[in-house]
Amino acid sequence: MHEITRPENVRAHVGIIGGSGLYDPGIVERPVEVRVSTPYGDPSDFVVVGEVSGVKVAFLPRHGRGHRLPPHAINYRANLWALKALGVKWVISVSAVGSLREDYKPGDFVVPDQFIDMTKNRKHYTFYDGPITVHVSMADPFCEDLRQRLVEAARKHGYPVHDRGTYVCIEGPRFSTRAESRVWKEVFKADIIGMTLVPEVNLACEAQLCYATLAMITDYDVWAERPVTAEEVERVMKENVARARKILFDVIPKLSGSPEPAKCSCCRALEHGVV
Ligand SMILES: [Zn+2]
Repeated sequence: MHEITRPENVRAHVGIIGGSGLYDPGIVERPVEVRVSTPYGDPSDFVVVGEVSGVKVAFLPRHGRGHRLPPHAINYRANLWALKALGVKWVISVSAVGSLREDYKPGDFVVPDQFIDMTKNRKHYTFYDGPITVHVSMADPFCEDLRQRLVEAARKHGYPVHDRGTYVCIEGPRFSTRAESRVWKEVFKADIIGMTLVPEVNLACEAQLCYATLAMITDYDVWAERPVTAEEVERVMKENVARARKILFDVIPKLSGSPEPAKCSCCRALEHGVV
């Protein structure tokens, strides 16, 4: 049972946004539950704040515990705001994805470096609804410093990991048709597919957070004509979640300081974006 405390009593340095299957950090010492309210409403759940090897960590399950929130109903703004309000500088987003490539296999990790936004109806796409207008650069949407650290940690454990990938984010909650899946694969040349990266990634950028995604492939998307059962997806996801925890356990202590300026422009994201 976690202790419950008020947000003003806690600070955190690293934020983890857990995806499907990762509802509990499982690696955090001395956890306390913090209910953070934001100007944008409530985050997906309370935030669990604790320590990993002396580094303060804030964990938030993206879909809420028990997977209550489908991708289009998540309050992404409140989630990012809550982490920022706790003092978080780095955000590792963990998510389950489908593969659009034969050589990106179920069970592999991908640390994407690009995305294509195919969402259609996401509300609250920005923190700046006026009168201030912000156009942040999304040319390189992820923190390169954090991306490299995630890849290194996965390799250290001997887990199969792809150090690049284009994530196509669809609206959901339905999956793609075969025709759509072939478009993402053959026309867009995307590598993985999911429903939650957008607008999380661009809001993180507006909040000037160092953000990267650890994507876990659960199955081939429908282009592969290889129907999978829910049990298979569940089994791969369980294995992946155990591995993701080991990667997080390895990476978090190395994030005690600031990012390397040469590999990261996240904290300067608003310098040229404000109109
Ligand atoms: Zn960064």
